[in-house]
Amino acid sequence: MKDNIGIVTHIQRFSVNDGPGIRSTVFLKGCRLNCQWCHNPEGKRRFPEVFHFWSNCVDCGKCVRVCPAGAMEEIPKAPLHPGEKGFKGKLGSKIIRIDKGKCITCFQCVEACEYGALIISGEMRTTDEIIEEVARDESFFEQSGGGMTLSGGEPSAQPKFALSLLKAAKERGINTALDTCGYQSYEVLNKLLEYTDYVLYDIKNMDEAAHIRQTGVSNKLILENLKKIAARDDVKTYIRLPLLPNINDSEENIRKTGEFIQSLGLTETFLLPFHPFAGQSYRLIGMDYPFAIGEGYSEAEALKTKEILESYGLNVALWLAWMSDENAEKTDAEQMKN
Ligand code: SF4
Ligand code: SF4
Repeated sequence: MKDNIGIVTHIQRFSVNDGPGIRSTVFLKGCRLNCQWCHNPEGKRRFPEVFHFWSNCVDCGKCVRVCPAGAMEEIPKAPLHPGEKGFKGKLGSKIIRIDKGKCITCFQCVEACEYGALIISGEMRTTDEIIEEVARDESFFEQSGGGMTLSGGEPSAQPKFALSLLKAAKERGINTALDTCGYQSYEVLNKLLEYTDYVLYDIKNMDEAAHIRQTGVSNKLILENLKKIAARDDVKTYIRLPLLPNINDSEENIRKTGEFIQSLGLTETFLLPFHPFAGQSYRLIGMDYPFAIGEGYSEAEALKTKEILESYGLNVALWLAWMSDENAEKTDAEQMKN
């Protein structure tokens, strides 16, 4: 693939949660981690793929009949997990399950569906096209201190394309941010960082064995890369810590995480409590979700975690898309001004 062509799931304009100011976030498709809680499941695989948008489906079965690979089957539409909340499907009807192992991505099913119930996620885009789209909001970037953020998936999983986008944005005078899980060789990250102003770096779990269980990979490379990035003075690094019940929210892990961030001389930390409806996107695209849907993270617990992290000298902002806490919102806004 050419360096200036890559696979993108979508571009989100006017984002205020992906780095300072108002930003356009470009979601690149593909990630080498397989986090159990991933809130962008459509971004995991690095190729265009078809998803079943079941709420539009009228259960006509046409897609199943045209599929040349036998990759689709109709199964009863029922809650996928006992006791899950928030299910509003038409009980008694069917849902289409797509076997991604058999699918040859011919997209005949998408053409056959007359109800918009099958969608293709992932589109080949050029750097020029994307920068042109992003640059439409240049005036908002200038007023707010915002710019373009590369996210995913994992943007460094398409290293040449990510580099091409970051370079082109900088040439155009657009501020850049890289939202990364850090699971990439430092050599590659180093090249990307030459054209990056802000890094949004995820820490998921300090315990290596738990990290392997929960994401499929070790955290060694991730933590080593963060040490090197934190030592740079040409980029500003923000830590993003997803807070997941019984996954990484033990006091021991939170304290280890706080200690580690402090030891690197970093302070700016975003705490992202588990989203109670993150699983809805899994259901919309016909994938299984390993957590109960609709049960939110307790605000009191999230604030307790915030306090623990703050005891290590960190400036912690809760990402409160689904919680209300005026003080925390104030902290978030203040932090974004820095
Ligand atoms: S894209 Fe092609 S192979 Fe895949 S499910 Fe649809 S019709 Fe079948
Ligand atoms: S996805 Fe479309 S073609 Fe397939 S059963 Fe549903 S409505 Fe019919």
